Amino acid sequence: MKATVENAKQLGFAALLEKIKAAGLAEYGLVPAPLDEKIYSACAKEGDVYVHAGLNNADVDRVLLALLKDDPETVLAGIAVAGNLVGAAAKFLYLPEDEKELTDAVKPLAEEYKIVLVNDIINVRESEGDLILHIVTAKNLADLVDGCYEAGVLVDTGDGLKKTAADTKVSDLVNLDGAKAVYLGYQWFTPDEAKELTAKDATSGQICVLTDKECIVCETQKKLLKYRKASCGRCVFCREGLIQLEYEQKEITMARGKGAMLDLAKEIGEPMAYSTLCTVGQESAKIALSAIEKFGSEYDAHIKKNKCPAGVCAAFVHIYIDPNTCTGCGECMDVCPADCIEGKPNFIHMIDEFECTKCGKCIEACGDEAIQMTSGKLPKLPNRLVKVGKFKKH
Ligand code: SF4
Ligand code: SF4
Ligand code: SF4
Repeated sequence: MKATVENAKQLGFAALLEKIKAAGLAEYGLVPAPLDEKIYSACAKEGDVYVHAGLNNADVDRVLLALLKDDPETVLAGIAVAGNLVGAAAKFLYLPEDEKELTDAVKPLAEEYKIVLVNDIINVRESEGDLILHIVTAKNLADLVDGCYEAGVLVDTGDGLKKTAADTKVSDLVNLDGAKAVYLGYQWFTPDEAKELTAKDATSGQICVLTDKECIVCETQKKLLKYRKASCGRCVFCREGLIQLEYEQKEITMARGKGAMLDLAKEIGEPMAYSTLCTVGQESAKIALSAIEKFGSEYDAHIKKNKCPAGVCAAFVHIYIDPNTCTGCGECMDVCPADCIEGKPNFIHMIDEFECTKCGKCIEACGDEAIQMTSGKLPKLPNRLVKVGKFKKH
């Protein structure tokens, strides 16, 4: 066990609280209150007080969990120090349900520090009055006691977590040239908006840049699906709202979108952001609302123009065999898992678009580059088998 807990005890409550205040230590993430105030507030709770440590519930991408993976002992020591400060009856560390490997790895150390591991999100209602502690705050607290605390925020732009000054501009952290959208702090931003933001706005530690080759509707749908899985279902607006919001994005990517869906998304998302108990409902609504509000033209292209501007959504993509290039070799038929290519030797092959799953295997297999993918209009194609070289456009 690290000496941190013992050193904190020797420092004493008042001196450590003074140290926390002087260092400006604040709760990390979405609810950034000064840590000394949070500790005093938990101490004032009547009856038993508990420490609930974890990520913010909304943090479904979990990049900050790397901190616990890399240095579990310092995080656990920080939770133990916080527990002693508030006189906690018990201390809990919440880990995502599917992080079984991490849970098993942390368990022996957690037992040493008398911290109970829970594979769930924090129940905010039941934890009222207790000390809710982000794992980054716990690590900062332990570092402060150990004399190695450095101010700053943690950011992952795709190559691991790094500490940076809170006022570092987002444009100095990621390349915004050619960016279509930037995701940070549980919202989508335009590149111009992102230029005004700094590292401290990346409350989940994550900054992602989308280019023209990525579809914002598709990316939003994937994020909402993660939230659907994370929702505990206690709040109707979170439970039902997420089902509806995710379903709508999915329908739009499947070429079944309707204009009314966007109005409905706003009707659901706006109350969801303020009528749900925890950050899962509150932040997920903002993801959907920011995508629709700031990237409306991309939604319109899917819904009204039957087009995915990024060429990502398979429902808007056509795969066809160019009748002027096909040599009738039959290689594509052999690899098609849907068995939807018709042809015979020396005849121009044809794809049954209705059955095609757009897996792209035939494109890879065709050595003559006769199989094309387009999100635009299809050229004139044969409607029956025609001998190679005999296809006429008119
Ligand atoms: S907002 Fe969602 S995850 Fe949070 S308590 Fe309500 S239902 Fe559960
Ligand atoms: S599409 Fe390509 S692989 Fe298929 S028959 Fe024509 S040339 Fe061969
Ligand atoms: S894209 Fe896949 S399913 Fe469609 S024709 Fe090619 S191999 Fe078959």
